[in-house]
Amino acid sequence: MSMGLAPVSKKTDWAYEPSTTLYSRVCRRLTVKLAQHSVKVSPERAIVSFSFDDCPKSGLDNGVAALDKMGWQSTIYVACGLFNVENHLGKMMSAEDARALFEAGHEIGEHTFSHRDAKSMGLENFKLDIAKNQNALAELGLPPSDTFAYPYGETYPALKKAMQSKFKGSRGINKKVHTNHVDLNQIGSIPLYSNTIDQAVTAVQNLGKTGGWLTFFTHDVRKNPSSYGCKPEDMRQIIEAVKAAGADVMTIRDAISALKGVAV
Ligand SMILES: [Zn+2]
Repeated sequence: MSMGLAPVSKKTDWAYEPSTTLYSRVCRRLTVKLAQHSVKVSPERAIVSFSFDDCPKSGLDNGVAALDKMGWQSTIYVACGLFNVENHLGKMMSAEDARALFEAGHEIGEHTFSHRDAKSMGLENFKLDIAKNQNALAELGLPPSDTFAYPYGETYPALKKAMQSKFKGSRGINKKVHTNHVDLNQIGSIPLYSNTIDQAVTAVQNLGKTGGWLTFFTHDVRKNPSSYGCKPEDMRQIIEAVKAAGADVMTIRDAISALKGVAV
C-alpha cells in the first residue's frame, strides 16, 4: 500500500435493529408456534447453556474465560464476516480466536457469514451465506457446525424448516425457559444483559426448582457494556446462581444430545 492511501476503515457504530412494526411483531409471535421440531425436556435435571453471539473479544476474555475457569464449555455463534471488525459491541474476535476456542473444547456454532437479518434476503441467498461461513470455518480446520443461531433472532416458518435439515438445533432470542419441551427449530434464550440481569438470575433460581433447560445469550462483556452485553460482575453473579441452582452446564450441542437421550 502506498503511503498516501488510508487503510480501509472497518469501524462502524451503527447497530441494526429488526423491524418493530405491528405486522412484524405479530409474525414473530406466530413463527414461534409454527414449523416446530418439538422434543421432550426432562424435569429431572436442570441444564444451563451459555452462548456468545458474533462475538466481541471482550465476550471471550471476560465471559467464556470466566466460565472456562469453572470447567464449563460455551457455544460461540461465529459470523466469519465480522472477524476483526470494530462496531458498537467493541472489537470483534479473529479467525485465530475461533480456532483456539474450538481447540479448547468449546462449540463453534453457525451464525451466517454476513450476519444479515434473514427477512432482508431470500431463503436461497441466506443458505448461501451459511455455506460461505461454513467454508470459512472449514478453511480454519474446523468441523461443520452442529447448531445455528438466527442473526437478530429473526426467522420465519420456512426458514425454521430449512434449518432443521441442516442443524441439530437453531437458537432464537425468544425469552423462554424449557421446562417440559423445546422447539429445536427455535430454541428460546434469556439475554445476559446488564439492564435485565436480575431477570436472568431469577430464571436460573426457578430452573433449580422446576428442572429443564435454559440457554443464555450475550455479546460484549466489559466494564461499560453496550445494551447487548453485560459487565464482568454480572457474569460472576450468574455463575454463582448457576452453582447454587445445582445445574449442569453444557454446550447447546451437548444439551440437545442429552435431551435426545430422554425417552419420550
Ligand atoms: Zn448475532
